[in-house]
Amino acid sequence: MNNILKKAYTEHNLSKSEIITLLNSDGKELYKTADKVRQEFVGDGVHLRGLIEFSNICKRECKYCGLRAPNKNADRYRLKPDEIIEYAKKGVELGYKTIVLQSGEDSFYTTEKLCNIISEIKKFDIALTLSIGEKTKEEYQAFKDAGADRYLLRIETTNKTLYQKMHPNMNYENRKQCLYNIKDSGLEVGSGSLVGLPEQTVEDLADDILFFKELDADMIGIGPFIPHPDTPLSGKLNKENFDFALKMMAIVRLLLPDINIPATTAMETINPMGRIIALNSGANVVMPNILDSEYKIKYEIYPNKICLNEHSGKCRNCIEGKIKSIGRFVSDTKGFHKRV
Ligand code: SAH
Repeated sequence: MNNILKKAYTEHNLSKSEIITLLNSDGKELYKTADKVRQEFVGDGVHLRGLIEFSNICKRECKYCGLRAPNKNADRYRLKPDEIIEYAKKGVELGYKTIVLQSGEDSFYTTEKLCNIISEIKKFDIALTLSIGEKTKEEYQAFKDAGADRYLLRIETTNKTLYQKMHPNMNYENRKQCLYNIKDSGLEVGSGSLVGLPEQTVEDLADDILFFKELDADMIGIGPFIPHPDTPLSGKLNKENFDFALKMMAIVRLLLPDINIPATTAMETINPMGRIIALNSGANVVMPNILDSEYKIKYEIYPNKICLNEHSGKCRNCIEGKIKSIGRFVSDTKGFHKRV
């Protein structure tokens, strides 16, 4: 182990320049160290979170995302509250201990509607995560009070100039404030970044990691940017994004050793072994989709998403097989962040 990795392994702290050195390394030793830290702090259990993408209707215009409001080619759908609850029930029957509700920023779902859905789903005795964008402090509190457990909101990038370019009519400071409001409400807070955005530098990635540490996040999801043809950022995929995303994820494991870190779907979209590689490099969570194909296909934040035609029961078995093949097991707990 080199000196920077030794320091990260013992102190769980690194300077920006040390992080940059690791990001520019080939990653081999880094992945090994992150896997060791993962094993020591969160063990061999992998938490499966059943994902329900309940609406692809979005008022935002994020430059990279296929669900952006100006994309006229997106075939929009919105599940009814009863359908969302039905899917959650199906997820529970498939053995999931956490359900994640994700959507575009769709104003149809008022706080009242969402709180009703939350309290219905919580009757199934599972953990519930929301990933539905920017809300007010009061709304996050209402979700928590209705029974929600966690909330995911990626900062996407901490480079303020780049953030403003990528997110027309949105505000970097507000997004940051949202993350602190989520935390203050008592919800577990998840964040993360996109890796490989145009003009994004290795320095930016290092700043993202330091921000996650400052936020003291409970969960961090890192995904490679995959260009969507119907967005202003259409174009060729940069395969390097995978390696940088993986290195970033591994460094996050070193600095925030006891948090939950997913092997993201976007990683597997770029690399057919992506999630297994991620699980061997610091990750301890996988988020399989439990929707039927018709909706999975339409929730196209980026193209060529994996397992679009797979039945949700099959997805569950497939990922369990992969997890067992690397000597790990599917956790039967709700998988809250346990501070060590
Ligand atoms: N509306 C919610 C959920 C967004 S979709 C919210 O704002 O939090 C979930 C994540 O998909 C985003 O946070 C973003 O990081 C990722 N994403 C969007 N477009 C992508 C693309 N083209 N390639 C890779 N990931 C993308």
